[in-house]
Amino acid sequence: MTKVMYPGSFDPITKGHLDIINRASVLFDEVIVAVMINSSKKCTFDEATRMEMIRLSTAHLKNVTVTSDHGLTINLVKKLGVSLVIRGIRAVIDYEYELQQATANMMLDDSIETLFFVAKPEYSFLSSSVAKEIATHHGDISKFIPDEIQAIIWKKFE
Ligand code: ADP
Repeated sequence: MTKVMYPGSFDPITKGHLDIINRASVLFDEVIVAVMINSSKKCTFDEATRMEMIRLSTAHLKNVTVTSDHGLTINLVKKLGVSLVIRGIRAVIDYEYELQQATANMMLDDSIETLFFVAKPEYSFLSSSVAKEIATHHGDISKFIPDEIQAIIWKKFE
């Protein structure tokens, strides 16, 4: 049974993240989406809300669960007994950062593999920050934010 972990900030989850989760849920037996809390990163949504937004957006996927952690990704990977970390790559700009993270994890524990999903073209420009910027100016977020959580986003940015 292949269990994978998808770590990230998910502040908030976007349709780009959801596309990766959908694709991974077809390929693997279990997908654990992990909200990683980084104290140096100021987030718009608190941990519980970010987890709830992922749960609501992935309710249709029976092999997807949500967790959160404050520590290093590799410690959570070990705790959960996961064999693979999945991440997404939108453009060259993501590559350097993702390579650095994956290599650091590999140096800390070389049994951990990171697998990258290439973003769908329609989401390749999309980030949580872009979605929040559009919401701040009351633009149409329906193409970017999962339907199930749009009300939560509007409540925050009304
Ligand atoms: P982090 O702060 O850990 O980068 P994010 O929530 O921004 O967390 O992103 C988590 C992962 O999802 C990263 O690997 C990022 O490249 C990927 N990702 C973010 N947005 C998209 C998207 N639109 N399409 C595909 N992958 C994405």
